[in-house]
Amino acid sequence: MRTKFCVANWKMHKTVKEALAFLQDFIPLVDEINDREIGIAPTFVCLESIGNALKDTNIKLCAQNVFYEKKGAYTGEISPIMLKDLNVEYVIIGHSERRKYFYETDEIINRKIKACIDEKLNVIFCIGETIEERQSNKTFDVLKRQIEKGLENINNPDALVLAYEPVWAIGTGMVASQAQIEEAHAFIRSQLKELYYEKADMIRILYGGSVTPENIYSIMNTENVDGVLVGGASLDPVKFARIVRYEEQRRNE
Ligand code: PEP
Repeated sequence: MRTKFCVANWKMHKTVKEALAFLQDFIPLVDEINDREIGIAPTFVCLESIGNALKDTNIKLCAQNVFYEKKGAYTGEISPIMLKDLNVEYVIIGHSERRKYFYETDEIINRKIKACIDEKLNVIFCIGETIEERQSNKTFDVLKRQIEKGLENINNPDALVLAYEPVWAIGTGMVASQAQIEEAHAFIRSQLKELYYEKADMIRILYGGSVTPENIYSIMNTENVDGVLVGGASLDPVKFARIVRYEEQRRNE
């Protein structure tokens, strides 16, 4: 059984004050939920205060990025050890915004994943195709390459969560169809099986891309979807709580 996982990726949004105000509203809306995991990835500068506010709650502290070295002369970077020290449990790696704006390659992503696993941090590894790649029938080639290179020499998948995030669906309101999600997740599962055999069945695959309370019910009821990574809609406590409580949203579809 794979435990469902709903993760908020706040990107470069919310000051410490705003983030704490979000939690005041959000925690009571989800505090009795214990059959799924909930994660929040605030900015680095919010990690300590949000981490303190999340103590004794059912919500996991996540980070949006990391560097692959342990320490040293790397101005502006943050190491896995530093995240661990703040009780971060999951790190998002390979988000398409990092690939696009910060030129992160598959090789860099692979080093980051390894560095996190070495420090016993869990990883949410994002993959997904651009619209041009989809339109030229390269979706599977791209996913295969991202998986093979991103997970090169990573022999134990216990700390891994995958996130399928078609780039064209992120922040655009253009959610992937149930058929597109099902097909991509099945392909990702098959690739994971080639790498990890029966252990691949334990790896959760999240969907990300314009998830809202209005579309969450059908997304969560898609084969091989084990949760969601949510950007825009996770900034609002009521909307994100409705996404976490996805079974209750059927009437909205
Ligand atoms: C994301 O940034 O991972 C994401 C899926 O964003 P949005 O939900 O806004 O499309």
